[in-house]
Amino acid sequence: MTDGVVSLKHFFEEARAGRLTGIRCGGCGALAIPPKEFCPTCQQRQWQPVSLSGDGMVVSFTVIRIAPRGGPEAPYAVAVVKLEEGVSLLGRVVDIPIEHLRTGLPVKFRPMMAAEQTLIGFGPS
Ligand SMILES: [Zn+2]
Repeated sequence: MTDGVVSLKHFFEEARAGRLTGIRCGGCGALAIPPKEFCPTCQQRQWQPVSLSGDGMVVSFTVIRIAPRGGPEAPYAVAVVKLEEGVSLLGRVVDIPIEHLRTGLPVKFRPMMAAEQTLIGFGPS
């Protein structure tokens, strides 16, 4: 891959297979996920794919009590998870009771299959 672009399609294909992929900027070393076109830190476009462990911890979360139309059954939680590699990512919380959810809780990436798409989920580590 010479132009350094790691597509969102590739990101979600990998996620579906249970692999979380980030990108590291060849200019400044910043790590980003999901893929962006330009590095938000140095504005370069020299991304290199990096495999992420998927292990992280909850930084913050929001409990959704009224589901969007056609969406998942409420209540459910959406959390910002800081991965051990240092990047943060938003995902659905699965298999963790809402009353047990707290900041600092260790979680692990888990792909969630929706009808046509793969969603980012986090379950117990
Ligand atoms: Zn950069």
